Amino acid sequence: MAGGKYQAPRGTFDILPDAARARRRVESAAAEIFARAGYEPIATPVFEDTELFERGVGHSTDIVRKEMFTFEDKGGRSLTLRPEGTAPICRAYVEHGMHTLAQPVKLSYVGPFFRHERPQAGRYRQFHQLGAEAIGSDSPLADAELIGLLAGLVAELGVPGVELRLGSLGSLDTRQAYLDELRAHLRAHEAELSKEVRERIDANPLRAFDSDDEGTRAVMAAAPKLVERLEGGDAEHFEEVRALLDAAGIAYEIDPTLVRGLDYYTRTIFSFVCDRLGAQSEIGGGGRYDGLVEQLGGRPAPAVGWAAGIERILLALGEQAEEPSRDVFVAVGDEGGERRSLAMVLAGELRNAGLSAEVDLGGRGLKGQLKHADRIGARRVLILDADGAQLRDMASGEQRSVDAAKVVEEITGGLA
Ligand code: AMP
Repeated sequence: MAGGKYQAPRGTFDILPDAARARRRVESAAAEIFARAGYEPIATPVFEDTELFERGVGHSTDIVRKEMFTFEDKGGRSLTLRPEGTAPICRAYVEHGMHTLAQPVKLSYVGPFFRHERPQAGRYRQFHQLGAEAIGSDSPLADAELIGLLAGLVAELGVPGVELRLGSLGSLDTRQAYLDELRAHLRAHEAELSKEVRERIDANPLRAFDSDDEGTRAVMAAAPKLVERLEGGDAEHFEEVRALLDAAGIAYEIDPTLVRGLDYYTRTIFSFVCDRLGAQSEIGGGGRYDGLVEQLGGRPAPAVGWAAGIERILLALGEQAEEPSRDVFVAVGDEGGERRSLAMVLAGELRNAGLSAEVDLGGRGLKGQLKHADRIGARRVLILDADGAQLRDMASGEQRSVDAAKVVEEITGGLA
């Protein structure tokens, strides 16, 4: 291990400056899109009572069964690093009485999430999501708007090879009847199923659609599909979501085998997948969760939302970070002294004028400062010496005298 004894924990990573800049571009694009559509930012704590996720995400899900970072605090209370953002936001909606606000309450977030998964490309134990939720509307317009926001982000960033898959789980009642039918199908083919799927026929039969076991996949290909069982209000809702997406020119594919790893979904579910990613091909996804707020102790509030993985988006973009802009380096001549403080003052003025400006913090001589300015990619160097002030263009090597009292105007004017 080079250089030191410690490493970031397994499945986590440091975000070094180049990566941080690329990430900031994604986050700013999302923030713009959220703001223009009226999705106000919200931030919830990084850990919550464990019970929130057990109840919200669901006892039978992989997340709750295997993937939570759960610990006891000094008071013996069980806490969990948040594995997802929707349950905490619904908790906040209920806790702060947001049902009294204009509905739906439209919220957006970005931050770290934690799942104890087997790390691989695109799958980490600490990862970052950005997401949006509209709580308090059962209108298909909300579903279509939310899907449109993520489609818009993908388009704005230029993420290549993305496809939208759409499905519907129906309401909880429809689903109950369907789940019984599905369980019967699974039981009839029990011997062909993987052990894991077999053990969860009762608890979570839908997850069988997600299995990569060959035998299970064959059984699932012939399984009854929930989208084909939708009736009444559920069928109409799905129909309307589709019509709205068509009208908005958002292409999608109906995927009857689409399921999600969280129990709270009802009706619409969707997934944006990218063909440039390997096994972890989903960039983002979500759906409607009409029962969650009530389940967490609030008044019933139908809702819809999604989350996208920032690391997955960056992997799909595969892009080099843009170089930071370094407008001016203020250097001082070798006889230095009090000019170092003048350099600091001028750099401050240049920064106030909106340029990036840096000074030597390493006690270098003039030659060393020029070398350093070149190394960090400064476009111009302002040299303060006994002769006054010289401005050097680093690309052309051209250098001219400038009036020390007016350098800020000269430089801002010259760069404009
Ligand atoms: P989910 O909260 O499971 O619906 O996931 C939403 C999005 O978060 C996924 O589409 C991924 O882009 C991202 N994501 C989920 N789990 C991970 C993980 N372990 N590592 C990296 N990204 C993840």
